[in-house]
Amino acid sequence: MRTITLAVSLLLGFAPSALAANRLRVVATTPELVDIVKRVGGDFVSVDGLARGTEDIHQVVMKPSFVTKLNRANAVVFLGLTLEHSFLLGLLDVARNNDAKPDPVKTCAGPACVDCSEGVEVLDRPQTLSRAEGEIHPQGNPHYNLSPDNGPTIAKNVARRLSEIDAAHAADYQKNLKAYLAELEPKIAEWKKLVAPLKGVKAVSYHADVVYLGRFTGIEFIDSLELKPGVAPTPTHVAKVVAKMREQGARLVVREQHFEPKTSEWVAAQTGGKVAVLGIMANAFPGTETFIKFSERNLNNLIEAAGAKK
Ligand SMILES: [Zn+2]
Repeated sequence: MRTITLAVSLLLGFAPSALAANRLRVVATTPELVDIVKRVGGDFVSVDGLARGTEDIHQVVMKPSFVTKLNRANAVVFLGLTLEHSFLLGLLDVARNNDAKPDPVKTCAGPACVDCSEGVEVLDRPQTLSRAEGEIHPQGNPHYNLSPDNGPTIAKNVARRLSEIDAAHAADYQKNLKAYLAELEPKIAEWKKLVAPLKGVKAVSYHADVVYLGRFTGIEFIDSLELKPGVAPTPTHVAKVVAKMREQGARLVVREQHFEPKTSEWVAAQTGGKVAVLGIMANAFPGTETFIKFSERNLNNLIEAAGAKK
């Protein structure tokens, strides 16, 4: 695609100096995707992010500046599985980028769209395709970015699609991917050992976004404080969760940092447990702007709250 754009630009007589500075323009929806695009794209891309990382990904506020970025984007990198539906569909609609159009199923449709969920084993897929009112995880659980072992899949998707969009630099993207995986994969192996004491620990989370993380850490998440994803906790439901936790000896409560702390703290007090605060995107906490730092911080917060430190 980019080669074609360059050829057309040359035919139109654009200055070569402007073209030299014309890196592939990438928009990535979340900070960890920005980080991975930077690692894989290197000097051949310029990347802008949309969500800051501190907000609820299901409720990201759309800014006019996002529209301009999306309009000019050669690649739009997103997590998919409807995770960005609250903001990306509307933005793509007004951005009018012919290579990246809003799509209710695929989020983004067109040659510039880079869906990082391709190849991810999707958990919590609904039994039926009927969409209950207010369902915010209609295609299965979209929070796969919380599990470190999905990092390589994300990076491979980014490298594969950037190589297709900008074939001239395909070898560079593959080289950068290799270097990134050489750093990430040993970390994942290290973290797997680090979380060994968490195996079989029972816990609840505020939002149902920990299923992939549960699989990685061995933590058994038995319920969520929200009545259902995106629906605030009710006193009756929270009381039921507390009873279930007591029955099963669950003490760990996960609160995603953008949610109010009171409910989680109350539940932890009722069960003699502790709250682990997690980010659902990189940059949720200062100093966690990369996928590696984000993953590491979340795992350490879980280990600390579970009292499973070696
Ligand atoms: Zn969610």
